[in-house]
Amino acid sequence: MKIQTLPVGPIETNCHLAIDEATRRAVLLDPGDDAHALLSHLRAKNLALDAILVTHGHPDHILALADLSDALPEVPVWFPAGDLPWAFTAANALAGFLPAPRRPAAELHSATEGTVLALAGAEWHCLETPGHTPGGVCWHVPAADVLFTGDTLFAGSAGRTDLPGGDYPTLLRSLRRLAGLPGSPAILPGHGPASTLDAERRANPFLQLHAGG
Ligand SMILES: [Zn+2]
Repeated sequence: MKIQTLPVGPIETNCHLAIDEATRRAVLLDPGDDAHALLSHLRAKNLALDAILVTHGHPDHILALADLSDALPEVPVWFPAGDLPWAFTAANALAGFLPAPRRPAAELHSATEGTVLALAGAEWHCLETPGHTPGGVCWHVPAADVLFTGDTLFAGSAGRTDLPGGDYPTLLRSLRRLAGLPGSPAILPGHGPASTLDAERRANPFLQLHAGG
């Protein structure tokens, strides 16, 4: 599985493409902005999407979801169940900065703990990791040893919890859970550079908090 990361929008949200190179089937995670550019990229690279996956409902991760999904109505969208109730309401505008996202015309499938999907030649597991948002999830692809962490875990940092619905103790529990996953998958976060779980276990202060009890 090959990963391409396309930073989109005013705060450079990572839109990730996970590609099965043998079939040119792909999964697109977090269409944060620039639907037109994403569609052009898919066409230029001859990629067909098996699904659009979302890590959480913040507007900088889903502003292009409606335009992308409306352009590709056959592609299923999986959305964290806990973020669905508020993600497409006016309450989800970042005042004066980003508008509230528009809901796509297509049905949104609810992603919850235990959701397992066969996409782009691999199994995708949904892990509920609330704290940054009430319903935020990570998407784990064990066969490719990759973990898409959204805004839960960053290289050297973790998601903020001061936005509506955020909760710091809940985030710490989610981070502890991620630290306990087997092995050292590649970490593909929602902003900033990639990492590995071992590197974060060693150096990320939010995971060090757990090491010290
Ligand atoms: Zn966020």
